[in-house]
Amino acid sequence: MLHDPGPPHLYVVRSRPDGRGRPRLAPCAAGCVHPAHHRPGCADPLCDGCLPRPAEHGVLCAGCHARLAHALRHLPAVVRGRAGRPDVPRALDVYDVVAVWVRDALELYPAPTARPARLDAPLPAPARGPVTWRHRPLGVDDLELAGALSDAVRDLCGWLDRHLPWLEAQPWSGRLAAELGDLAAP
Ligand SMILES: [Zn+2]
Ligand SMILES: [Zn+2]
Repeated sequence: MLHDPGPPHLYVVRSRPDGRGRPRLAPCAAGCVHPAHHRPGCADPLCDGCLPRPAEHGVLCAGCHARLAHALRHLPAVVRGRAGRPDVPRALDVYDVVAVWVRDALELYPAPTARPARLDAPLPAPARGPVTWRHRPLGVDDLELAGALSDAVRDLCGWLDRHLPWLEAQPWSGRLAAELGDLAAP
């Protein structure tokens, strides 16, 4: 079933209700604030900062945009692992999360667009499921699987990157930036 993507949100701009003053950008949809900066009238002595960061990329602030763009570039390397030692459970987790986002985005995307070739491609053995690589020697299978997963994640992240302006205009893009940003964090 096709979900209603709602009205386009590109550059949500609000001006003051009285129509005076400069138009300003809406706050970041992820709720980001400037640490130690406060809204006018904030009187909470315990507040660490409550001044919203403006949405500069669709509904996202510059920080969320940078986090998402960084994740899309680095997730293929995260999946491949460090020094030729892939962490297969983590690689599978990254692949699953990215694939779910791409499937959801494809369903919502308002125009015909090419499906990433690797989205539905089968992955090599070992079969999906619990992987206990920590308890056995690293096998060629793990390297092959991590390589295939990395290629697939590169394909999926490339699709997300090509549709970034649209993704960042969606009200849920704060969750996308947070989720992929966490996966790409060291
Ligand atoms: Zn405050
Ligand atoms: Zn933000």
